[in-house]
Amino acid sequence: MKTWLITGCSSGLGLQLAEAVAARGDRLVATARSTDSLTSLCERYPETVRGISLDVTRAGDAAKAVALAESAFGGLDVLVNNAGFGFIGAIEEGEPDEYRPMFEVNLFGLIETTRTALPSLRKRAGARIVNLSSGAGIAGSAGFGFYNASKFAVEGLSEALAQELRPLGVHVIIVEPGPFRTAFLGRSMITAAREIAAYAQTAPARRHYRQSNNGRQAGDPAKAVAVMLQAVDSEHPPLHLPIGPRAHAIAEQKLDSFRADITTWRDISIATDFDTDNCGGPK
Ligand code: NAP
Repeated sequence: MKTWLITGCSSGLGLQLAEAVAARGDRLVATARSTDSLTSLCERYPETVRGISLDVTRAGDAAKAVALAESAFGGLDVLVNNAGFGFIGAIEEGEPDEYRPMFEVNLFGLIETTRTALPSLRKRAGARIVNLSSGAGIAGSAGFGFYNASKFAVEGLSEALAQELRPLGVHVIIVEPGPFRTAFLGRSMITAAREIAAYAQTAPARRHYRQSNNGRQAGDPAKAVAVMLQAVDSEHPPLHLPIGPRAHAIAEQKLDSFRADITTWRDISIATDFDTDNCGGPK
């Protein structure tokens, strides 16, 4: 039986995962900004679920949640950094006071929650850290650059963290969902106030995508959660886990275009070392 701590359990993937974890009998510290959203879960599983307020941008909240896992369940096996939201707008359109709050949640909140939980996680051989990235963390697209940047940062951080933690027996899993039917394209998506006509050929497509796809996403969150559980339970969890056909297509396209670029430019771009060796002689 594992003990989990999940951020952003008020709705969507976080709520579905919390329900699945509780239903299978694991222990859970469910967290959300408002604990009202956790009442039902805590009441239905009084022995194994505890709820606590955790705003990932508020100093001290994560420490209280980790302390609860320690005091109620004796430690922590799985941290899921799920809390996050999106921002739509061309790079020139976004203002700092619009896009910075997203980085505070998607990146800095994830970092500080992870740093706070690590001393506890390191005590458990086989512990797991699950970081919610996105298909948008694999490849950038016009009108989504700020969100891309926040999730690309999660990817780089997670890859480094995975190397640091592998010798300690802790695995990192980067979850990269495609579109799943949650509140993500609704209340969890901010749109830049300013639209610049010069970007009419590119960025607005993302705004339209949001409007026409909100509530119509093909992905079933319950099925995404089933994949996440399987990865967490695996003896050899993947570092990268695209979920859903769209995320897979994005990953395949990225690998193909990356490979095409480095192959085409290989001979020119690798001819960059000094012509002499370290002693000044010819190589
Ligand atoms: P969602 O239903 O809107 O859930 C987002 C969650 O993040 C909510 O519980 C929200 O809590 C929480 N949150 C926002 N700011 C927070 C903060 N400061 N502190 C703590 N929690 C905060 O959307 P979702 O699809 O489940 O999103 C979950 C994760 O999946 C996100 O990281 C998102 O980027 C990623 N993702 C989703 C999709 C998709 O299509 N659904 C695709 C790729 C990646 P409140 O109720 O308090 O706002």
